[in-house]
Amino acid sequence: MNENTINENPDLRNEEIKSDITEDPVTAEVNPDDDLPGDRFQVYFSEAVESEGPKLTDILNTFLELKNIDSELAEIDEEKGDLPEDIDIIKSKSEAIDSKLNSRKADLLSLEKEKSELLETDKSYEERINKYDEQKYDVRSNKEYDEIVKTIESLFEEVQKNESRIVVISAETEKISAEVSELESKYNELQSELKEKQALLDELNEEYKQEEIVLTGKRNELSNKLDEESKSLYERINKMHKGEATAIVRKGNCSGCYNSIPPQRVIEIKSAEKIYTCQSCGRILISEEFTAS
Ligand SMILES: [Zn+2]
Repeated sequence: MNENTINENPDLRNEEIKSDITEDPVTAEVNPDDDLPGDRFQVYFSEAVESEGPKLTDILNTFLELKNIDSELAEIDEEKGDLPEDIDIIKSKSEAIDSKLNSRKADLLSLEKEKSELLETDKSYEERINKYDEQKYDVRSNKEYDEIVKTIESLFEEVQKNESRIVVISAETEKISAEVSELESKYNELQSELKEKQALLDELNEEYKQEEIVLTGKRNELSNKLDEESKSLYERINKMHKGEATAIVRKGNCSGCYNSIPPQRVIEIKSAEKIYTCQSCGRILISEEFTAS
């Protein structure tokens, strides 16, 4: 019967080859004589052709049942959908904040250390200044006096320089401390958001666990009814259109992509003697009448 289709509509056959799905294993399987045009009439009149009719109908039915299960599984995925991704995003954001926090805290520590060293230095300079101050009245020459005064002045300069640096450090410390506390509160916010989303995902995983087991079991059962080629055709399309591997032909349009289907092709799809895929979206096309029966 498939050979029949080919002989009557060589153009449509060519059209199908040009479709998104360039290699259709099911079509290849049911058209073993593609390369042997001389044998076609023989196959056309043979009984084997007749017996393939119900088999294809079974395959289309299985495709439909599989699609229903896959659309339920897709809904479950949708339900959890953003949560796993969101959780990953929050985790990586938290890590980034944590590493920034650590580096800012290290900056604070080193500034604190510098400040205490400067204070220590200033203290020793001040002690020396006091000592020189006392000494300057016991000098024996003007030269000695001048030298002492000069030393005191240079120590004063050092102390002043250190004090200005301490002012800068204090301002910097204040700025970084504010930044640290802002980062900390952001980090805590993310952690509580993470906790919330993780709990939600755990809950959904638990909630759908049974359903997923049942659906997956049914899916395997149906999948095992299909021959390898039909199975791989379906899986390939389901990978592209999760839970929507089949489309219904309604008023001459594909229900998956709404592209119109040539009237002759609509009739062929309705006869369900061959598996057709949509030229635009690649979904397996099933006649509306077929699904109602
Ligand atoms: Zn389509």
